[in-house]
Amino acid sequence: MQYVSTRGGMAPASFSDILLEGLAPDGGLVMPQEVPQIGPAQLEAWRELSYAKLAAQVIGLYWTDIDPADLEGICARAYGDQFAAEVPLTAIDERTALVGLSEGPTLAFKDMAMQFLGEAIPYVLAKRGQTLNILGATSGDTGSAAEYAFRSKPGIAVFMLSPQGRMSAFQRAQMYSLDDENIHNIAADGVFDDCQQLVKELNGDLEFKAANSLGTVNSINLGRVIAQSVYYVWAWLRATDVVDADQRGQIKVSFSVPSGNFGNIFSGFLAKQMGLPVYLLVLATNENNVLDEFFRTGIYTPRTREHTLATSSPSMDISKASNLERFVYLLLGSNPVALAAAWAELDANGSIDLSQYRAQFATEYGIVSGTSTHEDRLASIRATHEKSGIIIDPHTADGVTVARGWHEPGVPMLVLETAKPQKFAETVREALGFEAEVSQELADLLARPQRTEEMAVDARELRAYIAHFAVHAN
Ligand SMILES: *Cc1c(COP(=O)(O)O)cnc(C)c1O
Repeated sequence: MQYVSTRGGMAPASFSDILLEGLAPDGGLVMPQEVPQIGPAQLEAWRELSYAKLAAQVIGLYWTDIDPADLEGICARAYGDQFAAEVPLTAIDERTALVGLSEGPTLAFKDMAMQFLGEAIPYVLAKRGQTLNILGATSGDTGSAAEYAFRSKPGIAVFMLSPQGRMSAFQRAQMYSLDDENIHNIAADGVFDDCQQLVKELNGDLEFKAANSLGTVNSINLGRVIAQSVYYVWAWLRATDVVDADQRGQIKVSFSVPSGNFGNIFSGFLAKQMGLPVYLLVLATNENNVLDEFFRTGIYTPRTREHTLATSSPSMDISKASNLERFVYLLLGSNPVALAAAWAELDANGSIDLSQYRAQFATEYGIVSGTSTHEDRLASIRATHEKSGIIIDPHTADGVTVARGWHEPGVPMLVLETAKPQKFAETVREALGFEAEVSQELADLLARPQRTEEMAVDARELRAYIAHFAVHAN
């Protein structure tokens, strides 16, 4: 399997090559040359596999330049003892179940992909005698997932900028209590935008970037997208376990996906394109509803940062959905010339009109959408707790809210649980009057000593720090 850029300016490359890259050299996103297919017989053959073994099979359709036994080892380590449970499905009413994606070390679904990268990337680096210094900016979830995935990994250091004093106590404790030597938490005296800007500046300095082997593991990394496709296959298998064997192949399942950067739901779309019997992919947004607007009207108008609201499902507060380019590429027939023209129009006008395809979004591609508000989140947290006794987090609540409009008789609705309620205790308390119980382990985490490198928003200081602590091949 070879990989190309959505904008056509990259020579076909292997999975091992693209795993270490962010954007393609032409500014596009990396895509497989064709989407591998899985049929009903293949799905049945996978039914008895553990999550780790299933992951090796699904990812193996894409990562073809690796010894399959090595890939099995990578998946076994990634999905082994870091996770509290093997992606459980939990019913919350007669027709809806949660898919438990937040059993990993940072209590959010980003662990599902990041733990895989935390094994896969060191493997590739070791084969090639290379090192990688991951530079990123975070306002919470992504940074902690990356740090937990790469802590103490050979040949890798993580430099993560976060805005001083602007994360929740829980998020701070998660990141700043790590004492691994290769993890560098840089608390910048500024806001998230300042952090992001510094990362951009250093990445734009190609000489510095090459000298220090800088890289990223952001949401456009195709390895992350593919690792996330696995749990759609897993959830379909579990939802159909209860059906008579001869009828399973005909059972379609809908998924509701709390969405921000269009990464998680694109993974589901990829699984559907591979042949997984998915009925609807329900895209749930919060008040930052650029994507709901796109799927209702066919017009995509990204917002500026100033027009992004701070909501109670903060990990979905995005103004630009970086993975949407992959969907539009497929929509335009995997034609890089058409995609490049469309994105040139977007750059020039700040908006793009794809309304001629609007009817196909639901009928052909199965993607529908909706918006949820703060009041909706509170109501869904309350209703879910009343019905099932289960406490959901505000992001999952967006998924539950929007799913409600898209139930069909005979089609199970699976809502992806993207975080645990302990991570967003304040909103849970507002909804229920109390918080989700905190385990002893989490209580200990909050009490652990914290360590950060405090820094002004100053590119020179950051460069000097990275140059000093970066890991180098010898
Ligand atoms: C990242 C995140 C999302 C959004 O996922 P995308 O892949 O960006 O669409 C939703 N919920 C939580 C808790 C997240 O951390």
